[in-house]
Amino acid sequence: MNAREPDIKSAAAGSFADPLRHLPGVSPQAARSFERLGIRTLDDLLGHIPLRYEDRSVVTPIADLRPGQTALVRGLISSVDKRDTKRPGMTLVRAVISDDTGSAEMVFFNQPYLVKQFAERIRRRSPIYAYGNIAPSGFGLRTIEHPEWEDDDPRHQTLAGNRIVPIYGLGDGLNQARIRRTVSTLLDTRGSAITDQLPAHIRTRYGLLDARTAYREVHLPNSMAQAAAARKRLVFEEFLVLQLAYGLIRGARGNRTTDHVIPYGPSILDDLTELLLPFQPTSAQRHAIRTIAEDMASGRPMNRLLHGDVGSGKTAVAAVAIALAARAGMQSAVMAPTEVLAQQHAASLGEWLARAEIRTGLAIGGASASDRTSLRSGAAAGTIPVIIGTHALIEAEVQFANLGLVIVDEQHRFGVLQRQALQEKGHEVHMLVMSATPIPRTLTLVLYGDLDVTALHEMPPGRRPVITHLRSQAQARQVYEGVGELIRRGRQAYVVCPLVDDSQAVEAVAATRHVERIRMEYLPACRIGLLHGQMPAQEKRRTMAAFRANELDVLVSTTVIEVGLDVPNAAVIVIENADRFGLAQLHQLRGRVGRSDKASYCVLIADPKTDEAKARLRAMVDTNDGFRIAEADLRLRGPGEFFGTRQSGIPTFRFGDILRDESILLEARECANAVLQQDPDLTIDEHRNLRISALAMLARLEAVRAG
Ligand code: ADP
Ligand code: MG
Repeated sequence: MNAREPDIKSAAAGSFADPLRHLPGVSPQAARSFERLGIRTLDDLLGHIPLRYEDRSVVTPIADLRPGQTALVRGLISSVDKRDTKRPGMTLVRAVISDDTGSAEMVFFNQPYLVKQFAERIRRRSPIYAYGNIAPSGFGLRTIEHPEWEDDDPRHQTLAGNRIVPIYGLGDGLNQARIRRTVSTLLDTRGSAITDQLPAHIRTRYGLLDARTAYREVHLPNSMAQAAAARKRLVFEEFLVLQLAYGLIRGARGNRTTDHVIPYGPSILDDLTELLLPFQPTSAQRHAIRTIAEDMASGRPMNRLLHGDVGSGKTAVAAVAIALAARAGMQSAVMAPTEVLAQQHAASLGEWLARAEIRTGLAIGGASASDRTSLRSGAAAGTIPVIIGTHALIEAEVQFANLGLVIVDEQHRFGVLQRQALQEKGHEVHMLVMSATPIPRTLTLVLYGDLDVTALHEMPPGRRPVITHLRSQAQARQVYEGVGELIRRGRQAYVVCPLVDDSQAVEAVAATRHVERIRMEYLPACRIGLLHGQMPAQEKRRTMAAFRANELDVLVSTTVIEVGLDVPNAAVIVIENADRFGLAQLHQLRGRVGRSDKASYCVLIADPKTDEAKARLRAMVDTNDGFRIAEADLRLRGPGEFFGTRQSGIPTFRFGDILRDESILLEARECANAVLQQDPDLTIDEHRNLRISALAMLARLEAVRAG
């Protein structure tokens, strides 16, 4: 996307790009406090919407106050005094407030200046509102503890009482009163300058407030219903802009053509599938293969996400796509995030594609100089049609004669720029990105709105769900006895020890020590291998190969085995300190087993301390369904941390919450499609501001994704 970054603020928000200190009553010191909260401009403040509201619209007669209650009263102050308490330096201010029904005492700690302020109100006989907790004490006057108070002055609207009151996220040096006052000044002085980027036809169709009303009502609502309607309007607009942004990308691509047209006849897909794969494809795989074939025959570059739970068989789909491209004389590049995974792909794809006499080559960092040279010349000359590798594929020295298809596995491990770099090794190439992170549908819209999406919602037949147990540390010995039993029956086991420290070196030591312990105490008769991030690539390779060849019974590792590994004979994975892992990661790890038609197990060893950790482990025990796991994960952690990596490219929203606001997201999506259908480039006048915002959103998305 080479859009110049338009200045969204000046275009869409008028003078709202001004710094906050331009507002009357905002001191430099206050401006700094706001800045620590990320609020620099008027627009930032406008967008700092309340976390929630308190309904303080009902005034309680003082005679009706009950201990334990939180209440709003209105009255005149009749007396005020100050005394020192037993604790040195601590002062107590007491003021009596009365209405027609009775009197109550307000108490404040360490606010001696209140004496003067209240004396002034007594003299002027001017009423105030006070809002606070009624103390549980028994006799005498009711006591209101540390109330928020404000003048009932007909010249000013109230902000803290006699209304629905906004409660904001706070920062150092800022309290609710300050934020409310500043927001109120902003709305009073600049509110009329708020412009609306939503054309009237959209507002009418979706029943949305206009922008000016929405900002006023979201901050200082007249009713709870108005507050909700105001927030909805802002969320809608935000989601709409994102969907329009994605629509612009898709539209721009739709206009592009590619020379890589790969025709296919009616029976060729079945023939190729049968030739290559040693099993019957699932109907989900069949469907994905057909969809991809259609993409590649269309004359437009494919941009498709293939996502499916771990073990759903994405590699097989990739194999058929590669074979189609190769038959049409085009090269393919397959990029995986780790060497171990690249090697595994080279092994399985290599074996399958060999049946169609299609050669494959492996490009990884650790390869020998001569291997590298022959691979590079083969790729450049076009004699090696398929190159599989890590990000080593992106290096400038790797050239292709006729690259037509790029496949990126476990794509969330890569940044957009890395994917692009690979794509640019050819001209308008087809791209298939694959992800084993199952994500809820709403998140697909938010994350991959620019891609076409195919999901593999089906597992290969005969798979038995992995049986998952949660065991405490104290039960470890029994767990390993069970593992020993499975090994005696010819199966293999993974043991995972998590990051115990930020440093890889410490982690390696811990893993090494753990291997010794398992060898000495638990599984003396077994062949045990170790895999960790600090090992030289060659040693890693040897260990993996030995495990795959069943020359090792147990593979103890840190999390390097997390993605993609496929050793069907492995029957059990033991995850130590399982509470240290995120849900998505646990599910990925569990995906290493259950890859055959025999029973397999996942044992989580943990003594979870927090409720959140308990909920995570419980979700693992309760379900094997990656999509349900993903939803639970999203709920437990929130979208920001969902993928746990900064490359995840999740746009952060000012207003919207992709879980809570799913229905608004779907509406906004529908609206975006309708708008783009009528005006694909957003060039007509009433869409001009939306276009500017959408382009700005694209620039932000790229920035997030590029990390
Ligand atoms: P993932 O989608 O996690 O990348 P893989 O492509 O590694 O999954 O496939 C997991 C395992 O399932 C592999 O051993 C693969 O050979 C096998 N497999 C894939 N599709 C089928 C199928 N239709 N029938 C039987 N086994 C299959
Ligand atoms: Mg895979």
